[in-house]
Amino acid sequence: MDPDELIGWFDECGRDLPWRDPDVTAWQILVSEFMLQQTPVARVLPIWLDWVARWPTPSATAAAGPAEVLRAWGKLGYPRRAKWLHECAAVIAAEHDDVVPDDVDTLLGLPGIGSYTARAVSCFAYRRAVPVVDTNVRRVLTRAIEGRAEPGSPSARDEALAARLLPDDSRAPRFSAALMELGALVCAARSPKCEICPLSECAWRAAGFPPSDAPRKRVQRYAGTDRQVRGRLLDVLRGSSSAVPRAQLDLAWTTDPAQRDRALDSLLVDGLVEQTSDGRFALCGEGGE
Ligand code: SF4
Repeated sequence: MDPDELIGWFDECGRDLPWRDPDVTAWQILVSEFMLQQTPVARVLPIWLDWVARWPTPSATAAAGPAEVLRAWGKLGYPRRAKWLHECAAVIAAEHDDVVPDDVDTLLGLPGIGSYTARAVSCFAYRRAVPVVDTNVRRVLTRAIEGRAEPGSPSARDEALAARLLPDDSRAPRFSAALMELGALVCAARSPKCEICPLSECAWRAAGFPPSDAPRKRVQRYAGTDRQVRGRLLDVLRGSSSAVPRAQLDLAWTTDPAQRDRALDSLLVDGLVEQTSDGRFALCGEGGE
């Protein structure tokens, strides 16, 4: 894969996203990576802008209450990420002089940071030449290099392949960003736009686009899932400045009381919700009134 071909396309066609601005700090990039893990760019944009204006540093974030952070997370989904981000801010403020670490191993020791986020922060915030492999990158590499339609389960091979292709000079971070962008904008899962792809060599295209032999993945639904019920319960608590009685939460999901109980239990176990001494419910940090 020719790095200049890919980077040239990215220079011209990459999205002008605010967390790619050269003035953005490592902390603000880390916040964007937490948010983007499971939520599309369009939904992250307004929340990220408000977030970094309000809490521009780890210490500012750590000083906020956990309920405030959960409210600011809004409807980005998977709210455990907000709790982890808050915990991560506290550790960086207390143990790293309010500076996001730059190396992958130290980043991996922080709350809520896995392999992808550690590498993304090291690469995009500090321009370290480490491979950054998300779903989009895996798909592009599987098609362009291995000639198959869809990647298999994530494995260490993905990072090894990305590392092999990474230019060993200052182009490495831009190459990684370009590879992700190509997967997001052009080499899409369902309908790759091969006619506008900047890669002059693609093994899957050269082989005539052989179909995937993997079983078709079921599209993940949201309606009716425990995730939706958890979201409804959190909406009630986010909208209230004080603890609410159980009956008020019960109204948030009347379809299946057992599912509602299970969702509430899981929010308590995750530490996103807490119970007051008189049996009412509140967002974490607000149950001790
Ligand atoms: S030619 Fe098509 S399949 Fe190959 S990398 Fe480009 S968009 Fe993906």
